[in-house]
Amino acid sequence: MTIRSAQVIAAAALALTAVLLGAGFIIGPAAAQTPSTAPEIDVAYQAILGNPKIIKTLEEIKLDDDTALTEQKRITEIPAPPSKEKVRAEYFLMRMQELGFKDASIDSEGNVIALRKGSGGGRPKLVVSAHLDTVFPEGTDVSVKEKDGVILAPGIGDDARGLAALLSLIKCINANDVATVGDVMFVGTVGEEELGNLRGVKALFRDHADIDGFISIDGLGITRVVNQATGSHRYEMIFKGPGGHSFQEFGLPSAIHAMGRAIAKIVDLQTPSDPKTTFTVGTVRGGTSVNAIASEARMAVDMRSDSTEELLKLEARLLDLVKQAVVEENARWKSDKMTVEIKLIGDRPAGFVSMDSPIVQATRRAVTVITRTPRVTFAGSSTDSNLAMSLGIPAVTIGGGGEGGNWHSRNEWYKPVDAYYGPQNALLTMLVLTGLDGVSKPALAVRQRK
Ligand SMILES: [Zn+2]
Repeated sequence: MTIRSAQVIAAAALALTAVLLGAGFIIGPAAAQTPSTAPEIDVAYQAILGNPKIIKTLEEIKLDDDTALTEQKRITEIPAPPSKEKVRAEYFLMRMQELGFKDASIDSEGNVIALRKGSGGGRPKLVVSAHLDTVFPEGTDVSVKEKDGVILAPGIGDDARGLAALLSLIKCINANDVATVGDVMFVGTVGEEELGNLRGVKALFRDHADIDGFISIDGLGITRVVNQATGSHRYEMIFKGPGGHSFQEFGLPSAIHAMGRAIAKIVDLQTPSDPKTTFTVGTVRGGTSVNAIASEARMAVDMRSDSTEELLKLEARLLDLVKQAVVEENARWKSDKMTVEIKLIGDRPAGFVSMDSPIVQATRRAVTVITRTPRVTFAGSSTDSNLAMSLGIPAVTIGGGGEGGNWHSRNEWYKPVDAYYGPQNALLTMLVLTGLDGVSKPALAVRQRK
């Protein structure tokens, strides 16, 4: 995941429904409501945090901290290169089965799925997920090293932490028979990173039209919540012409000249700053020698926006300019030999979940209860939640717990500081959304079924 922007939301009241003291949650007086938290969310929290089974489950998640860290390291050491997540997926499936989901399975795209039924006949249905893939190619040394309390390994945080947090959550709710109203679908997704282009969640939402909400555990810190999806489209453009000697065959169109014309047009495009919409020609390659008319040149272009509509507008204009550049290069030399091949190499949809939405409010409330921090940062990012948000399905991406850095690099590090906050936060957010059977109603609305 990558951070785009951050908007700091300060919850007004510091009073919390529960205070974490030592090993136990002590229930405090009724919380002063934060101005933007819906009363039904507060009522649900009061009820859930007053339930002894949930207090016990939260405590067990804390006690499971070391085991979860061992699990995180084990997952990290199973390579999961882009499009080659199978071995890690099989391990994850086995763990889900061992933790009680006998019917867990791997779908046609490679996602690992376990359905945990509630009492409400699948209404609502919430996905809680983490991604299986890493950015690291085959052959990368993924062995875990430790130095002075810092754990080093490619992928140790992104997203081995999310997967470990998910397993810890599953283990503790199953051990305590926590009964929800809505169904929960636990998913290990494939294809989240880079050119995976969210193929895992694309398949998930194609195959399951009845998903009402989506949570991705990706990233670490739990006071930062992603409720905006930055969309991106990326293209490779390959200009091809006859090529020839720069002196003897002068008069033929050049692939580099055509690409230069295209770039000169692209750089003058105007895009809105709100919703933020951007473009760049990221790489160029081409030509064979200084004294040859280039027969081939290629460039990679990245376009991003917080709005799908703006992204598509920009894309239409930019692609048109590229085609115009080819027409002009041919016209300049009275030729028809210059061509361009336009290949879509990246496609992530944009979206946004409003601050009033129950999923955002439930998450904010859970974070304040768990951390006793009244500040939650809401940010834009590119994660599995992009797809749900683009479909209008309420979604957030939350942290798995702990601290870390050097994402997507071989020097990625992780420190298990209050790591159990991750699965605790996921538990509370999940329960408010699905409802706790006999205790609270689901805060997540059931979408219209097609
Ligand atoms: Zn990630």
